[in-house]
Amino acid sequence: MDFSAAIHLLKEGHLHRSLRTLSSPQSRQVSIDGRNVLLFSSNSYLGLAEEPAIVESAVRAMEQYGVGAGGSRLMAGNMTCHMELEADLASFMGTESCVVFTSGYTANLGAISAIAGKDSVIFSDALNHASIIDGCRLAKGRTVIFKHNDIDDLVLKIRETRPACGLIVTDSVFSMAGDMARLPDLVQVKNDWGLMLMVDDAHATGVLGVTGRGSVEHFKLIPSDVDILMGTLSKAIPSEGGFIGGTTELCDYLKNTARSFIYTTALSPSTAAAAHAGLLYVRDHPERVRQLQNNARYMAARLSSLGLHTTDGQTPIIPVIIGEEDKAATLSQRLLEYGIFVPAIRYPSVAKGQAQLRFTVMATHTQQDINFAVDTLKSILC
Ligand SMILES: *Cc1c(COP(=O)(O)O)cnc(C)c1O
Repeated sequence: MDFSAAIHLLKEGHLHRSLRTLSSPQSRQVSIDGRNVLLFSSNSYLGLAEEPAIVESAVRAMEQYGVGAGGSRLMAGNMTCHMELEADLASFMGTESCVVFTSGYTANLGAISAIAGKDSVIFSDALNHASIIDGCRLAKGRTVIFKHNDIDDLVLKIRETRPACGLIVTDSVFSMAGDMARLPDLVQVKNDWGLMLMVDDAHATGVLGVTGRGSVEHFKLIPSDVDILMGTLSKAIPSEGGFIGGTTELCDYLKNTARSFIYTTALSPSTAAAAHAGLLYVRDHPERVRQLQNNARYMAARLSSLGLHTTDGQTPIIPVIIGEEDKAATLSQRLLEYGIFVPAIRYPSVAKGQAQLRFTVMATHTQQDINFAVDTLKSILC
């Protein structure tokens, strides 16, 4: 393969990306490539990366268990810290049981491929996250993609296929568009057709609902409306890892069949302990979740008032659609010169010609931070 020609093509299309390096914790203000900037690109929505109680838990776990789990969960790597994390996750999410994977990515990969056997059909939203897409690719069952958030198109496709065993899978908050799935409608459809529903709450846990319990709480559903609830421990909960919540049988089945659960080393003890402490922090501080929700609405309203194409701020992902790839990249570069880090998102993360500045807001941003970002964008746009 001619790598340099491939890279040249990416550069020509303004699609080439390179790594930036942080030398500080993931907070509202960070040091990137040696410069202090305001961060509007973090998934650490609640700003908990440096929270003393969480950091201390990780340190204590490292002192108690050392570093590294030393084996997979089913071999010798399963520790008290993993079990305690799963128990409290299930009780927070209201699911009967819960199983923790080493990332959200591997949770989706393992769960979808284990659940959708060769007689299954997976109905997947067109804007689902790459980890769902890859899980569908690994599954033995067929995947049918329905138009984004289009319930009529979904029902049409279910009617055409009439699967004996079907799984509807969706992000609850779409990671690039920042909009939400129509969850109550999806629950209705899966009940009408006797299908299973899997919901990816990666951007919803600790974010949506008055107490941060996610999309089920936001839409006033009950936990059993969602058969397979997926979440991550790497976003609002500021550690690493992913989980699947559901019935005891589902979780037992996944522990025995999900290859990304079986064939990998367990989360390191300090990572599991940090996730656990992060979860308890969210449980005990719903006011932090509301602060995030207020900031998201405020920032979206200010961006909209500039006449920009954006969201209503129901979620902390607030993309501003720019269009041309090079224009989005230039705006991102100019904002960085003023000390504001917001990346330009381009193809293949979004469609060609739909490049965007993807702002994400944190609970710890002040109103001045948000005003500064919006006012700076305004001044460089005109
Ligand atoms: C981030 C993300 C994941 C993957 O989670 P990680 O813990 O980062 O591996 C899965 N689904 C969605 C929608 C995400 O945004």
